Amino acid sequence: METKPVPQLDTIQASILDAVGNTPIVRLPKGFDKDVKCEILMKLEFMNPSGSIKDRIALHMVKQAEHKGLLKEGGRIVECSSGNTGAGLAMVAAALGYDITVVIPDKMSSEKIAAIKGWGADVVVTPANVSIEHPMHYTKVAKHIAENTKGAWWPDQYHNPDNTEAHYLYTAKEIVEQCNGQIDYFIAGAGTGGSLSGIGRYLKEQIPDCKVIGVDPEGSVLAHYWKTKEVIEGTSYAVEGVGEEEIPKAWDPSIIDDYVIQNDKDSFLTARKLAEETGILSGGSSGFNLAATLSYAKTLPQDARVVTLLPDYGKAYLSKIYNEDYMKDRYLQTIPASIATARDLCRDKNTAQLTQEDTVAWGIRQAGERQIRPLPVLKNEKLIGVFDEDRALQLLKEGADLDHITVTECISEAPTVIDGDEPWHSTVDIVREEENVFINDKGTLFSLNTNDLLQSLSRLDHTK
Ligand code: PMP
Repeated sequence: METKPVPQLDTIQASILDAVGNTPIVRLPKGFDKDVKCEILMKLEFMNPSGSIKDRIALHMVKQAEHKGLLKEGGRIVECSSGNTGAGLAMVAAALGYDITVVIPDKMSSEKIAAIKGWGADVVVTPANVSIEHPMHYTKVAKHIAENTKGAWWPDQYHNPDNTEAHYLYTAKEIVEQCNGQIDYFIAGAGTGGSLSGIGRYLKEQIPDCKVIGVDPEGSVLAHYWKTKEVIEGTSYAVEGVGEEEIPKAWDPSIIDDYVIQNDKDSFLTARKLAEETGILSGGSSGFNLAATLSYAKTLPQDARVVTLLPDYGKAYLSKIYNEDYMKDRYLQTIPASIATARDLCRDKNTAQLTQEDTVAWGIRQAGERQIRPLPVLKNEKLIGVFDEDRALQLLKEGADLDHITVTECISEAPTVIDGDEPWHSTVDIVREEENVFINDKGTLFSLNTNDLLQSLSRLDHTK
């Protein structure tokens, strides 16, 4: 087998911070979108050590703050973030020995919040759906904490020129070198605007013919401001990290040649397609950048070269973009209510069953971990009852050896079993009356209760 030679680099780093930057650029395979003929290159910013494009600005802003005397030994960094700057700063703070508080809106994925806590940061979660003037808005909360904490420094990424400078000095330079100075279009969204503006400015200086195209979510104020100089009121959208509700100083509209508007659904579906077809598991704003790049690129000639960014990694979105239930509830095809059956109410539900020979200990674990209520108990593949949790808990309290008692001791009467072909509305009537039923879908039993109904009924399209 032929192997790749190991590059002769000084490979041992003194700190995780030395691993920031130098991210790869990968070409999108031809035919990913049959209507796109030109070359599309993606800079994999999620390969930074904390998993996003924000490591570069976190490190640069901290170094500049130290240099300017704003952050001193024993100090505390306090920042508002949609997650990635918080992660980058938390990593830098941990590596350099600073304390840190990250203020993050509750719209952001639970994975991001958990990771920031993992770096030892104090995390303050604020409501996402408050206006920017509200004292609970995450920017206001961060400012308030910073002003009232001794030795605190607020990077204020939205208005900090060192944010934009980090991309001008590092990200952009890498892109130009990796592309041998050959780039026709740079297309990316803006949150703070640091990456779009910093990279865009450098590209325009080095390659004057290169066009810089911004991307904005439906609901953000940036594209409208760029076109009209008018600040409108924003509305909500789901893609994280891009778009704004005020005009950040880190964003420089003067270097932008055009703007594309991109919706949540196509952003998320494009991220999923990228993962499935190329192996690149990226975040929502990566799908957002790529979806906008593809729609823009349809009008470009075959010899054009377009560069875009994949800002963060897909693992931060396992509960969202890569979660079937989340996507089906919001973006994927719904089932017309006119033809829906009991089977459609159980779509994607977990299923589990016990046999009477299983131990009670196993039954408790199945009921607890799988969250299936009630659990069917089978004998010779026939339903003979359900696992009686109350009885099992009683045995547990009595100190019985549950590894040696079988489920036979804990069986109670099974609820009604409904065939999977039963229409959904008559199924609802039975569940309302009996609270719990089993749906028999070709031999597999799904437990369905009123709670499940509330979830699954919202997936049916009641207009059809
Ligand atoms: N994507 C994600 C996931 C982000 O967190 C951010 C940062 N807010 C961006 C894109 C946009 O980066 P910038 O702040 O440089 O505009």
